[in-house]
Amino acid sequence: MSSNLCEKCKFLHFTAESLSPYGFTEKRADNDELHLQFPAGQQSVTVPYGCRDDLPDLPRLRESAEGETGCGFCALLRDSLLRGIADEGVHRWALKRNAGKRLTVKVAKMSIMAAYRPSDDDRSTFAAVCVEWDVLEPGRDRSVNDFTGPDGRVYFKLCAHSDDPLARYLGIAYPHPEQHILSAANAKVVRDQLLDCDKEHIHVSSPVRPGESESDRLPSRLIEITQNQDGRKLRLVETKDLGDPGNAYGSNCREGTGSIKYVALSYRWGYEDFLTTTPSNLKEHFHNIPLSPSSPDDTTPALPQGFKDVVDICCELGIFHLWIDSLCIIQKETKTVDKTLLKIQQEESRRDWATESAKMHSIYMSSYLTIFLVTTDTPLQGVLERPAPSPDSIVAISYSVEHHPDIRGSFFIQPLSYTGELDHLVWHPFLAAEDALDSSLWNTRGWTLQERLLSPRKLYIGVTDMLGLGLFSCPQRSEYGRDIEDIKRPRRHKSLDNLAVGSAVAGTDVSGQEYSNENLYQAWYRIVEDYTCRDLTVSTDKLPALSGIARTQALALNDQYVVGLWARDLAMGLLWAPRYAMNPGSDRYFGQRERKPLVRPDKYRAPSWSWCAHDGQIEFVGNYLHRPRSEIEVLGHELIPEYDDNPYGQLAVDQGAGGYVKLRAKVIVALLEARHEPRPDTRFQRLPEKLQPQPQETGFQLRRVQVAKATGEAQSATIFLDHSGSYPDAEEVYLMIVSRGDQPVYSTPGQYESGVRSAGLVLRKCPGQTRLQFERIGIYSHFWDAGITSLFNDCEPQAVYLV
Ligand SMILES: [Zn+2]
Ligand SMILES: [Zn+2]
Repeated sequence: MSSNLCEKCKFLHFTAESLSPYGFTEKRADNDELHLQFPAGQQSVTVPYGCRDDLPDLPRLRESAEGETGCGFCALLRDSLLRGIADEGVHRWALKRNAGKRLTVKVAKMSIMAAYRPSDDDRSTFAAVCVEWDVLEPGRDRSVNDFTGPDGRVYFKLCAHSDDPLARYLGIAYPHPEQHILSAANAKVVRDQLLDCDKEHIHVSSPVRPGESESDRLPSRLIEITQNQDGRKLRLVETKDLGDPGNAYGSNCREGTGSIKYVALSYRWGYEDFLTTTPSNLKEHFHNIPLSPSSPDDTTPALPQGFKDVVDICCELGIFHLWIDSLCIIQKETKTVDKTLLKIQQEESRRDWATESAKMHSIYMSSYLTIFLVTTDTPLQGVLERPAPSPDSIVAISYSVEHHPDIRGSFFIQPLSYTGELDHLVWHPFLAAEDALDSSLWNTRGWTLQERLLSPRKLYIGVTDMLGLGLFSCPQRSEYGRDIEDIKRPRRHKSLDNLAVGSAVAGTDVSGQEYSNENLYQAWYRIVEDYTCRDLTVSTDKLPALSGIARTQALALNDQYVVGLWARDLAMGLLWAPRYAMNPGSDRYFGQRERKPLVRPDKYRAPSWSWCAHDGQIEFVGNYLHRPRSEIEVLGHELIPEYDDNPYGQLAVDQGAGGYVKLRAKVIVALLEARHEPRPDTRFQRLPEKLQPQPQETGFQLRRVQVAKATGEAQSATIFLDHSGSYPDAEEVYLMIVSRGDQPVYSTPGQYESGVRSAGLVLRKCPGQTRLQFERIGIYSHFWDAGITSLFNDCEPQAVYLV
């Protein structure tokens, strides 16, 4: 792309002359190097930049960018705006409303953003350029969303080769994409962080719990990496042969703990085949795991590039044992022709999976370091080489600085895929890394959540190139997350890494603070909310992929796990709702994850009252009550696990008479009306009916029910149905109060009969049962209808079975 800039875009020639009106100053560092410093403490500086162009084509920007001498930045800006506008759902409304009319896009704000080098006092670096844009309807100068901030924003990061004089003068934050991630300098940073952690922190002590043996805790097999003059060799080893100080592997133990020092890996499997350990090659893998094909004709698969890169990283860090599930757990054999043998082999892998997956939590908890491949979709992709930027996506900015003839050179400007909030991108490289992490595809996978939460020491590879090899995190290294003032934290729920799991087993967190059960339950609900936003390839993995955290929490809570919920906190746990149902305005702040309506898989997975029975996003709404008090008594439950020894894993498909929780609760009958209620969100209420979000978009249905009162009159109430399927007209349903708050709602006289907030379930009676048995079909909440609570005043609790 052209390196020319039009007059308007020449603001990218950053110099003391051009930027001094905004408070930038030249400073001389201790090493005598001159640099241009951002005004003290400022994260971003706005510069004037007028730009308006017509949708859908942006002809003015196109004209400015055209030809070999056209403006390179105008071209980047045009591409990014077009992409950003296409992505932002906000404009569906504007476009629908103004079909056929011409919309304009306006650059509302152009800012230069700083990052500050933590190691280098307050030295600022030039990190990015942020463009905030609005779409204007005909005849308007301001966006209709003016009060909620810009309609969208696009970022451009600034990168450079580290030895370029101009880049050093500005302190360009990002390395040029051609610079290798695993440089000696980058590896040393991580080695030092690990050493520091070994020496200074207490959390690395081995998490062995009472009654647990090494073999309960460690994976059965590890990959051993050896290096000598003939090169590198990998093979599987049994952990029971390691770790004994008397044997040859004793030196692989973590100092002073007797624990084996290994790296665990978290990555996405993807959809393509790659080398795994199966019953057929298990023996061979104990001898050798092929690093590359032995000859060009050799078609046997070799170690995929992503794993090879991890081996490189392990060697640089001096850790020579590695756990990768696909190689250390025996995978399902598919290629054996002999049917009898195939059956035996498949049973072997099934049993191995059952054994190893049951200790998955401790495999990650016991790792010396967990490496996370967050930037790739499959291990077939490498993680150390950055993809070469396409020539269309990078523009070189070259100039010399006035009065300093030797300060001349180039930096580069490149679009960033990130579109979140301004402050969090670069104001702290660690926050930027966390943002990148949270929005990565890796972070959309079900299994990766517990891998992330249970690993004590984590290295997220390549998560932001500002941080070299990757983001390092351990419970006592607080570069990101906890040491940043709350008010500046993103509004959406983040910092999963700091939630109360794993280290909480001993009852205290790393800083010695005691975890209350209340905190642990709350952490659990936040974890589940995040988990239900994730995808699983295998539907039956719903419970197993969270079982490691569940097991850990169960120990800490000393409570019984009931399919994704806790027996002693069921009055909060049952109160889940499809996400955004109760708080529809909040979806703007929950990141870019696609909204998924709730659906129930064809095959039985869990009882209807458990969120595990459904796929799609949920949230727990019990906290909307003020000091909620349980209105139910748990009398018992029966849930039959698929594997006898694992109450945290999947349930048996055929539960027989089981699969229930028995409660003493108040239940009243109600009549469900056919008509949909409009969504109770003022943003949408103003829209004409045909533009209202439909149930299939929101994933739930708002309906009214009629409840007959003792006086003979009927009271109507609003309820939420979990699924947007079809329901018969005037169906008989039941309402069950689960929790009530201790405070009246708004004191508007006459508006609410009782005014006490409560929340509970909407149930459907199971036909042909001698006992009172229900399944859940929805939830009611005080949120829209406080009057419901009083309906339960004259109701006697009775024993009910929820299935
Ligand atoms: Zn331009
Ligand atoms: Zn540490």
